[in-house]
Amino acid sequence: MAPAPSSTQTEELLRKCAKSVGAAQVLRGGDDQVATYCKDWTGRYAATPLAVVRPKTTQEVSEIVRLCRAHGVPVVPSSGRTGLCGGGMPIADHSSMVVSLERMNAVRDLDADGRSITVEAGVVLQTVQERARDSGLIFPLTFGAQGSAMIGGALSTNAGGSNVVKYGTTRELCIGIEAVMPDGSVINALTGLRKDNTGYDLKDLLIGAEGTLGIVTAAVFKLSPIPLTRTTGFLSLAALSDAPAVLNRLQDRTGGGVEAFEYMPRAAVDVICRAFPGIRQPLEVPAETGLFFEVASSRADDATQGDDGASHLQDMVFAVLEEMMEEGVILDAMIAQSEQQRLDLWTMRESVLEAITANGPAYHMDISLPLAAIAEFVATMDDAMANMGFQPLTVGHLGDGNLHYALSAGPGQDWKALPLERAKEEAFDLLLRLKGSFSAEHGIGQSKLDVMRKLKQESQLAAMRAIKAALDPEGLMNPGKLIPAEGGMVSPRQETTPKERTR
Ligand SMILES: Cc1cc2nc3c(=O)[nH]c(=O)nc-3n(C[C@H](O)[C@H](O)[C@H](O)COP(=O)(O)OP(=O)(O)OC[C@H]3O[C@@H](n4cnc5c(N)ncnc54)[C@H](O)[C@@H]3O)c2cc1C
Repeated sequence: MAPAPSSTQTEELLRKCAKSVGAAQVLRGGDDQVATYCKDWTGRYAATPLAVVRPKTTQEVSEIVRLCRAHGVPVVPSSGRTGLCGGGMPIADHSSMVVSLERMNAVRDLDADGRSITVEAGVVLQTVQERARDSGLIFPLTFGAQGSAMIGGALSTNAGGSNVVKYGTTRELCIGIEAVMPDGSVINALTGLRKDNTGYDLKDLLIGAEGTLGIVTAAVFKLSPIPLTRTTGFLSLAALSDAPAVLNRLQDRTGGGVEAFEYMPRAAVDVICRAFPGIRQPLEVPAETGLFFEVASSRADDATQGDDGASHLQDMVFAVLEEMMEEGVILDAMIAQSEQQRLDLWTMRESVLEAITANGPAYHMDISLPLAAIAEFVATMDDAMANMGFQPLTVGHLGDGNLHYALSAGPGQDWKALPLERAKEEAFDLLLRLKGSFSAEHGIGQSKLDVMRKLKQESQLAAMRAIKAALDPEGLMNPGKLIPAEGGMVSPRQETTPKERTR
């Protein structure tokens, strides 16, 4: 990395940036507005950048990247700052330039016949959903931060969420990309072609790169038909090991209609109900092994209602639930009887991270496992962690084999006295044995560099370093994120809640 620029060079750089994007769009260190870009949803990262620049066009992004490169200044792309791993935060010891994409917020095109939408990187996820719905289609990417997260951030973290079981992750929805590379050149691959085998897929390289290979400026996404009917509910299972059977039977009977299949055990629902008194347990007897699900169909047949007012889809779901209750797999179930009840279930699901954060300090794991291994992981971990004094708080996109497994302090325990390092070691040993991944959908950022260094296959790390060195030889594109430095120590930051810092 080049030495930090002198103050004269800095002034020259900022003057040129101001010429490119307008003086009002260059925020300086002393500016109150800069503080906004120095904190994210987690509240765990604190560092002040050289400045924050807010370009409006791809051309301006390219000019800023070229200017920063010429001055040896690292660039940190920033979108909605809802990332959970510190990837979009300026890092200490670097006089970096935060490039915020928020002003690149145009929907460039909506092709209803081709069922695609072209949006700039600063468009908020919820806006894309709304624009698609206005055209009688859906953009299915859905998660708790959708009101703030932006397209550039969602692509760069390859965000998942609650509908992946049906529609896939952001990567699977994206069919075109525009990006500014570390040398300032612009890759324009916004054709939206469903088939294009003309060499390496640079789109796939940029997706999930967390801003380390370039700045995404726009993208094209597939849109899907709007569901005509939905059946949403909550189940109590006798055993978590039966969850794959429930999922598969629902899929088989509804033509693969499951859109969400979420693990919500009692401990997590209790924490949500405590944090948000308006939210109530969905079942009369709280489920120890709870499952929130939604099945949907775009077929007119499935939306047809019988005399009792239930849709054909609902009848199919009822039949599965009844069968599995008789088999002793499902202990209890409720189906939302109105749109409001359905939305209440979604609100409960999407409040979980805030509820766990409000509950106190916690170490969050975002892991994935083969479906068949989930029950063993949860049973082994829950026992081991309780023995160490932790209270596990778990939810997960179970249909994708993705668990958000959080460790909080057990009753009467002092968080600081708990053996967190030993707990992490046990968890990751078990995860490796069961062939899981230590980051399912949130990425690596700064917070998981230590785990990445320890657990990622050396040959894969070497390939990533080679790609990074080839595209960004000066290492100026979001340094200190995603790829652990070779040999040197990183300073692992524990994934903890903001409250922990005050204790
Ligand atoms: C309540 C809550 C619930 C969440 N639920 C989920 C969930 O279910 N599934 C899930 O996957 N995630 C979830 N997240 C995490 C987060 O919302 C996603 O990672 C989201 O995609 C981040 O988008 P952002 O715009 O906030 O990105 P930021 O936080 O601003 O940035 C994230 C990363 O992308 C890089 N980046 C940002 N913009 C660009 C760009 N234009 N070009 C290149 N790099 C860029 C940044 O440098 C950083 O490394 C949740 C977060 C919260 C707070």
